[in-house]
Amino acid sequence: MPVTIDAHVHLSENPQDQLIPYATLNGLRYDLEELLGLMESNAISRGLLLSPPLRGGIPLPNEKVLELCRRSEGVLSPIFTVEPNAQDVGRAVELARRSSEVRGFKVRLGYLRVFADDGVLDPLYSYAEAEDLPVMFHTGDTATPNGSLEHAHPLTIDRLANVRPGLRIVICHFGNPWIQDVGELVYKHPNVYADISGLVVGGSKYLEGYMDSLADQLTRAIYYAGGAEKVVFGTDYPVSTPKLSLELVRRLRVDEADRSAILSGNAKRVFNL
Ligand SMILES: [Zn+2]
Repeated sequence: MPVTIDAHVHLSENPQDQLIPYATLNGLRYDLEELLGLMESNAISRGLLLSPPLRGGIPLPNEKVLELCRRSEGVLSPIFTVEPNAQDVGRAVELARRSSEVRGFKVRLGYLRVFADDGVLDPLYSYAEAEDLPVMFHTGDTATPNGSLEHAHPLTIDRLANVRPGLRIVICHFGNPWIQDVGELVYKHPNVYADISGLVVGGSKYLEGYMDSLADQLTRAIYYAGGAEKVVFGTDYPVSTPKLSLELVRRLRVDEADRSAILSGNAKRVFNL
């Protein structure tokens, strides 16, 4: 069976975790044992672990992400979430210097009124470039009704990519619902990638039709970009399940070389796995 890498996984084992309602919708227990079991039964050999938001909107501390990764015995590798303020940027860079296992950073756009090219994030970008680590950006719908779509819109990444061509950027959730905009960003910028995580949530009345519609939009964006070498698989567990996320990949109208690149080859390149 081909090897798959899940480039976008959350976990906290904390009752304050704001993703628990998604776990409930998907019928998930949302703990490390379940996650590792689901990965194994779906032939997912590695995962990248990101902080989920806790009640009050703050992300789970990166130290806890490191601890969960260590408990996974090499299956999960950490991505450090960095809030756009000077103190958090300094702390995350410092922790990354001490953690050889870190595979990248994540910035949540749309939760605070800060754009990706804000100067406060400059030290993070310089460190990421120097260490050859990618920076992931939450884009698209914010999971909360008071988020700022203006700041979460993927086209705002264009300004950053223009001034930082050396920075490897991963746009999360393919910017959904602005999927074609992300097709353009991926086409335009050699160092901009996109993950397809968290697009299909269980329990919706039009699940089948919505999956077809997503597969259609992603396929169009891939055709526009001229290929799938910048598209990375992810589940966003517990927002989506491995089963639904893999079914979405199955529905893309791409050749088998591209499907396999989406499932693992691209992530290996982007995250140095
Ligand atoms: Zn996520």
